[in-house]
Amino acid sequence: MMTYYILIGGIALLSWIVSSRLKSKFKHYSKIHLRNGMSGAEIAQKMLDDHGIRDVKVISTPGMLTDHYNPKNKTVNLSEGVYNQRNASAAAVAAHEVGHAVQHAQAYEWLTMRSKLVPVVSVTSGMSTWVVFGGLMLGAAAGVGLGYYIAVAGLIMMGLATVFSFITLPVEYDASNRALAWLKQKNMVSQQEYAGAEDALKWAARTYLVAALGALASLVYWAFQVFGGRD
Ligand SMILES: [Zn+2]
Repeated sequence: MMTYYILIGGIALLSWIVSSRLKSKFKHYSKIHLRNGMSGAEIAQKMLDDHGIRDVKVISTPGMLTDHYNPKNKTVNLSEGVYNQRNASAAAVAAHEVGHAVQHAQAYEWLTMRSKLVPVVSVTSGMSTWVVFGGLMLGAAAGVGLGYYIAVAGLIMMGLATVFSFITLPVEYDASNRALAWLKQKNMVSQQEYAGAEDALKWAARTYLVAALGALASLVYWAFQVFGGRD
């Protein structure tokens, strides 16, 4: 149990460090005002237009760092700050979210795979730890019987969530690459603004990396508890 607490504590600490770095990076780069004076919403709309995408809407959503692309109703949802502000952070986030819309329009395979897993993972990921734990309580350590099978079922659910968090990585990196390539190609930002956008997106990607590593660490730990306990 001790190893688990150290592992989870370490990952939680890392996750906190990365997300607070991310927030401070975004704050810093939001002070770099865009030379072209465009808001995040205008950047997003222009990137959609440049890719010939006409059936995706750019809308404003409440909160901070709540930006996302919704493939169900084809909307690029930008947080209020990103939607309205005219700076390097807003440009980076807006272009990144449109990067997901471009992936969707071009049926980018990692995004397709991720979308297929969403309905499954949204049901299983919240309960997987409890299923494994419940199985162990029922006597999985004996290596036979109901408890063991319940624990293994829980591990499979946990494995799905882990796979999901790793499939998210190429999707996120690719959206950022598309965003940065477009910003550069269309000469949307100055060199300094570009450097800011690139750095901000790099920290955003790291939060997904930490989440994936956390899921993997948890899976390995619980697998050890279930299979290791058989001896
Ligand atoms: Zn993204």
